Amino acid sequence: MRASTLSSRPITTAPSCDATDGTPEPFWRSKRLEEMSASEWESLCDGCGRCCLLKLEDEDTGEVHYTDVGCVLLDSGTCRCRDYPGRQAAVPDCLRLTPEAVRTVKWLPKTCGYRLVAEGRDLPGWHPLVSGDPESVHAAGISVRDRVFGTEKDVDEEELMDRVVHWPELAIGRRRRDPGGNSSGSTTF
Ligand code: SF4
Ligand code: SF4
Repeated sequence: MRASTLSSRPITTAPSCDATDGTPEPFWRSKRLEEMSASEWESLCDGCGRCCLLKLEDEDTGEVHYTDVGCVLLDSGTCRCRDYPGRQAAVPDCLRLTPEAVRTVKWLPKTCGYRLVAEGRDLPGWHPLVSGDPESVHAAGISVRDRVFGTEKDVDEEELMDRVVHWPELAIGRRRRDPGGNSSGSTTF
């Protein structure tokens, strides 16, 4: 993940139950980020790939703008890193997400599972942990699939300004059109 201080979510240190029907709360509602196991932590990633798009930082304002150009290791079909275990050797400025980083990095997308949980929000229905289907993030139009212009190898640095896009900053999926041209709406949460 490459280039708000966020408050901690309400904490319960022991497994809690849904007050209405007694079913156990899922881990992302009942644990602090620091309390999650490695597999729980990894599963918070919805696989959208938004954070693997190149970003430009305005030197004057500090504002970060997304582009539709992917990191050299981003697979725009799967929306995953082509070499996740070795990514930091290949891409030294790839940020390793930690609970502290999630709370301090300003550019994580509003849809990011880590950001949502850090903000005390629930995961949306299209998140694979909720849907049980890793494809749901793509079906909901949240992921970068089919929206990446190319990788940083394909675009000169001077051209990056022309590739600035706003959709990765939105808490919303892609608007889809049926063959008759009617919009079928967008996915929000
Ligand atoms: S869920 Fe967050 S960390 Fe995972 S790919 Fe999307 S933006 Fe990146
Ligand atoms: S190295 Fe991998 S995880 Fe890091 S930004 Fe690039 S594609 Fe994403």
